[in-house]
Amino acid sequence: MIEDTVVKKDSYTSTTNACKLCTPLGACIAFKGIKGAISLMHGSQGCATYIRRYLISHFKEPIDIASSNFSEDTAIFGGGANLKQAVLNVSNQYKPELIGISTTCLSETIGDDVGLIIKSMATEIDHDYKVVHVSTPSYTGTHESGYRGTLRAIVEQIATEEKSSDRSVNFISAMLSPADMRYFKEILEDFQIRYRFLPDYSETLDGALWDEYKKIPSGGTTIDEIANMSKAIGTIELGYIGSESESVSKLLKEKFNIKDYRVGIPVGVEATDNLLKIISEISGNNVPAKFLNERGRLLDSYVDGHKYVFGKRCVLYGEEDFVVAIACFLSEIGIIPVLCGSGGKSGKLKKVISSRIDGFDEKQIKVMDGVDFSEIEEISKQLKPDFFIGNSKGYSISREMNIPLIRIGFPVHDRFGGSRILHTGYRGTQALFDLIVNTLLKEKQDRSSTGYSYL
Ligand code: SF4
Repeated sequence: MIEDTVVKKDSYTSTTNACKLCTPLGACIAFKGIKGAISLMHGSQGCATYIRRYLISHFKEPIDIASSNFSEDTAIFGGGANLKQAVLNVSNQYKPELIGISTTCLSETIGDDVGLIIKSMATEIDHDYKVVHVSTPSYTGTHESGYRGTLRAIVEQIATEEKSSDRSVNFISAMLSPADMRYFKEILEDFQIRYRFLPDYSETLDGALWDEYKKIPSGGTTIDEIANMSKAIGTIELGYIGSESESVSKLLKEKFNIKDYRVGIPVGVEATDNLLKIISEISGNNVPAKFLNERGRLLDSYVDGHKYVFGKRCVLYGEEDFVVAIACFLSEIGIIPVLCGSGGKSGKLKKVISSRIDGFDEKQIKVMDGVDFSEIEEISKQLKPDFFIGNSKGYSISREMNIPLIRIGFPVHDRFGGSRILHTGYRGTQALFDLIVNTLLKEKQDRSSTGYSYL
């Protein structure tokens, strides 16, 4: 059990190594999922440089992010002129289909009205590309909320009313890896249902080798697909944490009366069953045998590996929706996520986790939102977990405590292939389960005084 005195919130005055990232970073990831899009940040160069560096280090792809390049003058007199010039420069340089403008702390603090600036631009500049803007002050959100808010803004500003239905489904993905996105598309294709996938950075952030440099990588959800989202018969949106005002499925329901399905990120058997059941219901088709076989193999491995994982304790951290998904999966395989931490502050994390884990016991599972890595470290030292699971930002704690870290999610900066980690569905769960079992076996083997070479 965790003593309540461990985290002295009242006397805590600073954030040390936040367990969240900058809000427009999430916006830039979402815009990478739109075909022909370029991100433009309204603020200083440093913000764009930091985000570029951060994304390149994880995805290992060229990532261009433009900036309206605030100076001291702009910070005082407003950045309208800079933004207009930036839009002109980006359109000339890249010939984009969409310019996605996100705000930074500075432009939000001085109160620039980006919507109004864009409106005035529309009368002054003749253009054939779309301009979508989203408000992303980092002091009120996280990269996860920036991602959600951007998807909502894209659909709000592009989707139009279409009278005819094409019996398709809209699939709104949570902030997952390109490998996860490819897997979701494979599932939808195998169910033989027409779909629109938003955002689709499965190629733009993890593409094949190029023969020659492309200013904008190929791939992504097309503007037409977004415009036609009102033709769908249902919208599946991954994640429980986003508010109604951030939800794309809610927006499409309110505007076009499209049935909305909110489901958790499908990690684990139960969560994946739930997603496939919904796709089966919408498509009218049974779950393809291929996935039933994957499910069967996964269950078989659960039985084989149970003795290695049951009762183990882990500290889990990351984006709120991701933490919910992994916590449910860990509970499903008998591991206790003794700490579920996130830098997000939706206020929903504990409620969602406790409602989704059977027999949730807060004496065993501590759920904390708004945490930083300093708090995670402090509590972990009391809890003495068997392993950590989360992004690579927890490495220094795992090193200090000499406890293994299983790297998943975003960012993974100290290992190779972060964009190809498959977390979801039966297949991704299988990979995660094997990784966890093998990490625990390696730990036991390494610490054994006699050593052993046979299970
Ligand atoms: S100043 Fe704000 S927007 Fe810019 S990088 Fe820092 S947190 Fe992000």
